[in-house]
Amino acid sequence: MRQRVAVIGVGTIGSQVLWQLSKRDCEVTGYELFSPGHSKGAAGGETRLFRTLELEDLRYDPVVDRADELWKDLEATSGRELRQITGSLVMGDEDCPGMRTALEGVAQNGREYRVYSREDALKAFPQFALDDNDITVWDRDGGIIKPELTVNTAAALAEANGATILRATRVECVDQREDGTVLVTTDGETREFDRVVVASGAWTAKVLPDMIDVFHMRRLVSVWFFGKQPGCLDDFLPYLRTEPAYSYGLPVPDRSAVKIGLGFPNHLPIDCPDGAPLDVAEDDLRPFIDHAARYLPVLDSYPMRISTFFEGYTDDRHEYAQPHPRMDNVFVMAGFSGHGFKMSPAMGEVGADWATGTTPHVDTTFLHREHTPLVEVPEPSMA
Ligand SMILES: Cc1cc2nc3c(=O)[nH]c(=O)nc-3n(C[C@H](O)[C@H](O)[C@H](O)COP(=O)(O)OP(=O)(O)OC[C@H]3O[C@@H](n4cnc5c(N)ncnc54)[C@H](O)[C@@H]3O)c2cc1C
Repeated sequence: MRQRVAVIGVGTIGSQVLWQLSKRDCEVTGYELFSPGHSKGAAGGETRLFRTLELEDLRYDPVVDRADELWKDLEATSGRELRQITGSLVMGDEDCPGMRTALEGVAQNGREYRVYSREDALKAFPQFALDDNDITVWDRDGGIIKPELTVNTAAALAEANGATILRATRVECVDQREDGTVLVTTDGETREFDRVVVASGAWTAKVLPDMIDVFHMRRLVSVWFFGKQPGCLDDFLPYLRTEPAYSYGLPVPDRSAVKIGLGFPNHLPIDCPDGAPLDVAEDDLRPFIDHAARYLPVLDSYPMRISTFFEGYTDDRHEYAQPHPRMDNVFVMAGFSGHGFKMSPAMGEVGADWATGTTPHVDTTFLHREHTPLVEVPEPSMA
């Protein structure tokens, strides 16, 4: 009998796991609360930044390199453009930890970069205002990801290869029996699998309630501002500003506007995306308006569009990608902490490699944790 593998959540990571598994000799089933490519989780808002310059930990570099290769494969196989490689910018204080890590990457990783002084950057990229000690690094291979289309395309290719996707289906429980088989229960039924990958994003603590102390759910807000003058954003490059005034921004396809996002302190903690507030209070918009006025003087003073998304974080903001501590046939891939899209095809391959017992294509052991705090989950009462 072929190995039976389930993927819980066909979003950013799950769609890639499913695509990779669909090319191997196993029977694959994806469970998805909505439908692949929806915008109610972490994958909405039309754009994500692809950058090859790491600000946190250079051990991610090979993962991003592998993601780059797999994206090209996904695009060639599907015939769809899923990223635009426009070049991208990283800017910030040259002495801050993020920029120092970025400069180490420039020196080490063999791609093409250019480092601009503050004065040269202001001339080359006039849409930005900079602080006194800021430098800017141009990353030739950076660009703009189409997130919903990427998820939708990976899932469609998986289905074309024979995977089953159960849409509008909520997984309520994942439980491993003593014989090692894993039961996946939805509202309607329980099915049995040999291995299960849980990739349910900001819902992961609901799918695996004993991991509630590992994942912290956040609501992220994206805010779009029009450019003040026609044409002023024509050559606007996607960018990331390092801490302390962290932000990132991407132009919309017709270059009439820029979407910006702010950092961790601006993300509202939530229990679960189900029922979380979608409306953004006027007070919560103020940091975006102030940030745009300070660092992006070419933008209008008030946003034209506001959207909310949901993401899972871990305490150290490294994702969790290893077997569940009690259920060794369940692999948990969650807590991507705001940086998971650019490496999602490679992480999908990591999940598929685990499920099929294949030697991993990239080394992600630096993410492994010795200890995972689990909480006791009471058995449901049968009264
Ligand atoms: C606003 C925003 C901007 C970002 N910008 C960037 C960026 O520029 N670059 C970058 O690299 N990263 C970025 N990120 C991070 C990146 O988008 C996320 O790390 C990544 O999308 C997380 O993927 P995921 O698979 O964990 O979650 P998701 O993509 O949300 O997928 C989880 C899926 O599981 C499904 N699901 C949940 N529960 C169940 C259940 N019980 N049963 C069945 N299905 C279920 C959900 O419906 C969903 O489809 C950003 C994130 C946000 C929110």
